[in-house]
Amino acid sequence: MTARGRARRLIWLRRGVQAASLALFVGLLLAMRPPESGAPSPRLGFYFHLDPLLLVGAWLGGERLAGPALLALATLALTVLLGRVFCGWLCPLGALHNALSWLGWRSAARRRETDGLSRWQRAKYWLLVALLVMAVGGAHWTGVFDPQSLLYRSLTTGLLPGLDWGISAGAAAIFQADPQLGPLHLTALSEPLYRFWRDALLAGREFVFAGGGLILALLLALLALNLWRPRFWCRYLCPLGALLGACAGRTALRLTPTGTCGACQRCLLRCPAAAQPEKPGQWLPEECFGCWNCVASCGEDALDFRWQWPWRRPAAARVDLGRRALVGAGLAGLGALLVFKLPPSARAKTFGPELIRPPGALAEGDFLARCVQCGLCMQVCPTGALQPAIDQAGLAGLWTPVLVPRLGYCEHGCALCGQVCPTGAIAPLALAEKQALSIGLATIDTTRCLPYVYGRECIVCEEHCPVPTKAIYFVETEVTLRGGERRVLKQPRVEPTLCTGCGICETKCPFADRAAIRVTSANESRHPANQPLLPGGTESVGSNPYGA
Ligand code: SF4
Ligand code: SF4
Repeated sequence: MTARGRARRLIWLRRGVQAASLALFVGLLLAMRPPESGAPSPRLGFYFHLDPLLLVGAWLGGERLAGPALLALATLALTVLLGRVFCGWLCPLGALHNALSWLGWRSAARRRETDGLSRWQRAKYWLLVALLVMAVGGAHWTGVFDPQSLLYRSLTTGLLPGLDWGISAGAAAIFQADPQLGPLHLTALSEPLYRFWRDALLAGREFVFAGGGLILALLLALLALNLWRPRFWCRYLCPLGALLGACAGRTALRLTPTGTCGACQRCLLRCPAAAQPEKPGQWLPEECFGCWNCVASCGEDALDFRWQWPWRRPAAARVDLGRRALVGAGLAGLGALLVFKLPPSARAKTFGPELIRPPGALAEGDFLARCVQCGLCMQVCPTGALQPAIDQAGLAGLWTPVLVPRLGYCEHGCALCGQVCPTGAIAPLALAEKQALSIGLATIDTTRCLPYVYGRECIVCEEHCPVPTKAIYFVETEVTLRGGERRVLKQPRVEPTLCTGCGICETKCPFADRAAIRVTSANESRHPANQPLLPGGTESVGSNPYGA
């Protein structure tokens, strides 16, 4: 068989692998739901464990590398052997970009002009350098740009809620209008489909994620750029691609001239990576995705991938990253680090009242070092309490999970977020350990609470408090009503040694605008410096605990 014939078969195989990889990624995403019993399978985080950029980020964040995270070393070994086949064959985001690039039609003459190697392809290496410099200094944005995190976050917080809204609204409109085609009611089709979506795929969950629309819009913009340049993200921006490119410089499988080039440049037109297959001896292994398009497109059978010993230098000049540009990228990373870390406002965020982290979250600095903003914890939280942070944690904590008690609460019998977190940013705690932790403290607003100011009975917060011995208790107080009538009312108080800060009291408070009981991050177990209550329990109430 000719090299061209073999390449054509391999391309069909690659397309199958890409489709299967994308389907597996989406399948794992849909499977990431609160299980009927027990914990979700750790295999659901498979793509995150495969990802060397996240491994490097976690390592720079001080994590001991062990267990499934070491799968990423297999990706690196594969890259050293075969080049960037992860980008070309396995990456789910890469598969999406590939499909979109195929849709973007432009004339051959135009593509000849624009689709060759561009010096801007070095930008992804500069971005990688800046991100690593930031990570060394403790400001971690690898997750913001990592393709697995980016895709997972966008699908979870943007696409699924958007689809859910569209499908629910569509099904409701069809149900109300009840259109008919002859004797057939359209609802006979729409209702089973809607129930399948709601019960089997979403498993009854309802999503609301703050800023999900913007996260999705960013993904859609990146996908749209493929219509301008094939695989725009992979060529110019992807820091994982840059990391793999840095390991692929001496790959064992190399594009080799095997005949006389007719200079037709068909390989250039088909190369999504602009790896210079059209220049014999100038092919760039750091850029090549191993897609085999060039071999399949060559009418002269003048190209083929051949094995070579890794210690033999490739004939091609390597991508010149530019020493000055690299230093500039490092300085840009340093500048971002200063902006993220230095301003007093950024440091004040550590104990921000709204910075309520999931139970088991590490102390803020360590948490930010490990969290890759993937959103797995948000996806699995049964009450929808975990939301992508916008400004609660400062720039350094963009899209990291925070608990928003107005939207949901931490379920007393659940410790899922720690069990699914692929990086250990949230420790995997047993349920009893999690229940012994505090993530915040409830505070009663006595200017709003019904029994305090309006002379009405209300025991909603106490009723919902899940702590067996109740962290909310009542003090009976005689109050005088408007007409002079005197009434004994039960006024709620919070016992700080029992309150876990789960937030259910705030979620359920009858005030829909601003709850009369609110949870802040005070007293969180992870930060001794954020625990204002001195030991001594209830004895200190009513006296000055500072003894002045
Ligand atoms: S432990 Fe709490 S915050 Fe974490 S997933 Fe469960 S309910 Fe959500
Ligand atoms: S804390 Fe949540 S968003 Fe961050 S890495 Fe863990 S699972 Fe992903």
